[in-house]
Amino acid sequence: MYVNMKSLLKSITSGKEYPLNEVRFTADNGELLDVIHDFDAIKKQNNISREYFSNKRSTINGQPSGGVWHFRELVMPDLPESEIISKQEGNTRLYRSKKISAWLGLNKEKFFLKHEGENPTGSFKDRGMTVAITMAKHLKQRAVTCASTGNTSASLAAYASEAEMPGIVLIPKGNVAVGKISQALAYGTKTLVVNGDFDDCMRLIREAQEKLSAYPLNSINPFRLEGQKTIMWEILMQLNWQIPDWIVFPGGNLGNTSAFGKALHEAKELGLIDKLPRFAVIQAEGASPFYKAYKNNFSGLTPQKADTIATAIKIGDPVNYTKAIRAIKWTNGIVESVTDEEILDAKANVDAAGIGAEPASCATVAGMKKLIASGEIKSNETVVGILTGNILKDPQVIVDYHFNRKTALANPPHDIEATIDELKHFL
Ligand SMILES: *Cc1c(COP(=O)(O)O)cnc(C)c1O
Repeated sequence: MYVNMKSLLKSITSGKEYPLNEVRFTADNGELLDVIHDFDAIKKQNNISREYFSNKRSTINGQPSGGVWHFRELVMPDLPESEIISKQEGNTRLYRSKKISAWLGLNKEKFFLKHEGENPTGSFKDRGMTVAITMAKHLKQRAVTCASTGNTSASLAAYASEAEMPGIVLIPKGNVAVGKISQALAYGTKTLVVNGDFDDCMRLIREAQEKLSAYPLNSINPFRLEGQKTIMWEILMQLNWQIPDWIVFPGGNLGNTSAFGKALHEAKELGLIDKLPRFAVIQAEGASPFYKAYKNNFSGLTPQKADTIATAIKIGDPVNYTKAIRAIKWTNGIVESVTDEEILDAKANVDAAGIGAEPASCATVAGMKKLIASGEIKSNETVVGILTGNILKDPQVIVDYHFNRKTALANPPHDIEATIDELKHFL
């Protein structure tokens, strides 16, 4: 199958290695797997450097490609280009905002928001999906599956359709935002609404992999994380390789935490950077097992029943826990938790700045607010926040907020008669 494949799967602590084309998601001892590339060989073939990536013009199958496949050498180096299934993921904007930086109390020149909601299906999940679906096809899998709080299913549905692979998504009953379930249905994937929560869906997916050979595209799939690494490299490139002090993002199943840590660790190994920014991972208070484990010096994870308005991070038993600990250690990172009220408040500010994002994404900004207030993040530091999903993913939360709240940013619609007299009051 793989002719020149030098990359491997490697157990994250025991170091046991497996071939890349072996379909497996954990080592024999149950540990998670990393994808390991032969960087020495890659460096010999390509003059890997900051300039190499900054000046490179990348194409995939004849189409210009920034984003994920711009970093192909460090994502999936030996994969034949013709096999890549891509919708030009990534290459997302790095926003500045006077309004949000003023609300946060940060220097507007040093504050950035990277908008992953601007990916093809509206979340960062596409970055992982392009790599994982390509590998699923390459490994001749018969069907792809996922458990999803919404965005993974939207992404899987679109990519499975393009790859002409049957797909099944499992979503927890009553807990998926309308924009996301609409996408899964519209792109034509089989959508199973499970009488249970996300963690029940995830358990089923792992069982379906073992018993039915259904290929999971959750972040337990190490190829997903290879694609998500590129968010970090893109930020570095966009900042002209100046290393920010902080990278702030939400944590649910902790795939991003794991992928971002790996990306920066590899960037240092490759000599692209000489130190790592610090991570601040933000959880919703009602779904904060990682935050609690962090507070206990990672002495153990206690799964919980998750409850938060930010459905994308409504996860009580994150599968990438052990990889995420490593990322926090590598980056001297911290974990914080915020209430749903704080998330909604931050969201009102992100939305009113004309940028907009779904609730889970705004946990990023709510976390920044809290960490700046506590003095952990200093007002003169360079801070990059990740907005993980699009504003249109969860319109119900927006409508509820603006119709029902009495806050300064609440902006309910007004009913008028069809006369210029009534209209002029609003000008
Ligand atoms: C999936 C998702 C998250 C959670 O990311 P993890 O990698 O599972 O921690 C956060 N925000 C949005 C919008 C998501 O879709």
